[in-house]
Amino acid sequence: MHKSTFDILRCPYCGSALDLVTSSFNEVSGDEIRTGILGCQCCVFPVVDGIPVMHLQPNATAAKDLVEQQKPAEARRAMFGLEEHPAVAERVDALIASPDATYRAIVEAFGEYLEGGYFLYRFADPTFIVGHALVRAVGGTVLRGGGRAVDIAGGSGHLTRSLLDLSTPPPVLADLYFAKVWLARRFTAPGCEPVCCDGNSPMPFARGAFRFAMCSDAFMYIWTKRQFVLDLLRLIDGQNPAAAMISHTHNQCTWTPSHGQPLTPDGYRNLFETLEPHVFGESGLFGDVVRGGPLDLSRVDGDRTLEAEQALAIVASTDPRVFTPHALEPPPSRPAGEFHVNPLYAADGPAAGETLRFRLRFPSEDYEQEYGACRQYLPDEVTVARADLAALASGSVPPGAADLVRRRVVVDLPRRYGV
Ligand SMILES: [Zn+2]
Repeated sequence: MHKSTFDILRCPYCGSALDLVTSSFNEVSGDEIRTGILGCQCCVFPVVDGIPVMHLQPNATAAKDLVEQQKPAEARRAMFGLEEHPAVAERVDALIASPDATYRAIVEAFGEYLEGGYFLYRFADPTFIVGHALVRAVGGTVLRGGGRAVDIAGGSGHLTRSLLDLSTPPPVLADLYFAKVWLARRFTAPGCEPVCCDGNSPMPFARGAFRFAMCSDAFMYIWTKRQFVLDLLRLIDGQNPAAAMISHTHNQCTWTPSHGQPLTPDGYRNLFETLEPHVFGESGLFGDVVRGGPLDLSRVDGDRTLEAEQALAIVASTDPRVFTPHALEPPPSRPAGEFHVNPLYAADGPAAGETLRFRLRFPSEDYEQEYGACRQYLPDEVTVARADLAALASGSVPPGAADLVRRRVVVDLPRRYGV
């Protein structure tokens, strides 16, 4: 944890700033706290592997005891939820120690102890491409002059990655699952600042610590929704420009897979007591992205439209520039990580010759049901020149391949992601 994160950290329960308990075991180098105990006016929290653990669930208490006993590796195991599964813990620890280990290999080593889901396909799925476009439009607008972003309940940091070049200091990724934010910092969003905290408790940050606070594809699973939104607005309070955004939250008026406990569009709107939000149906935003933009945040979706939507995006901002049409950024000419053929494609046909043919296929019927809208930008079949594949693999986009990147047949994945 960098000092810039320590400075905005607050106890979620008493709200006071924290001190490093110097009489307890700690590992500090320069501006980074790697291991230690943080004290507030009401309790203490461990820092494990550079990640502050700002809740009091049993694994956090166990990890705090282990840090105090000068056992940082065991504290990490406790936070990984593996202290009672030594064989799994040993496999995970061995992989972590290897610089060549991939995200996929570590997720697979966790097995049933980490919900990995469809992470391999995440960077090209319809939910992600709308979330990414919203982050670039809304976050890009309010962070243009500097300022920090936070991605709350951001899991393994797939959208945090979209914030990396927008946020100064680097974005904070907050999630209850320690293993997910740990993996995000190493693989998905390298350089982000992870914080382990509970979305159902007050957020462990100072008022006005951020210009952009967001939560994507998670809010329907938060029980304390009213507290969450008031706290989200507290995080950007006093900043100008600033925005708070909840994207991809499900809609009580419709059914969706992995439904959670969603509210109605008005139910969501009413949570924003101090800053009136704009509520968008995500299908309209998805259409904007598939058409190549602009992402039109000047639109006003009526009640009928919103009631029929499976997922909603809610944006609150004092900055009128947010609620305008936003041109989409051109597809990257250099990858942030590495270009790969979208893992939804399988090679199909003979391996010889100057071209390769790929066919779209889904990992399961469940996946197709939830994310099948990707057919609107992913062709069923595609033929790619081997020379183009080689150029993409080395990090450049030949003229003939620009459209493959634009359509997400070729995706920019984190390094060592394991595709
Ligand atoms: Zn406290």
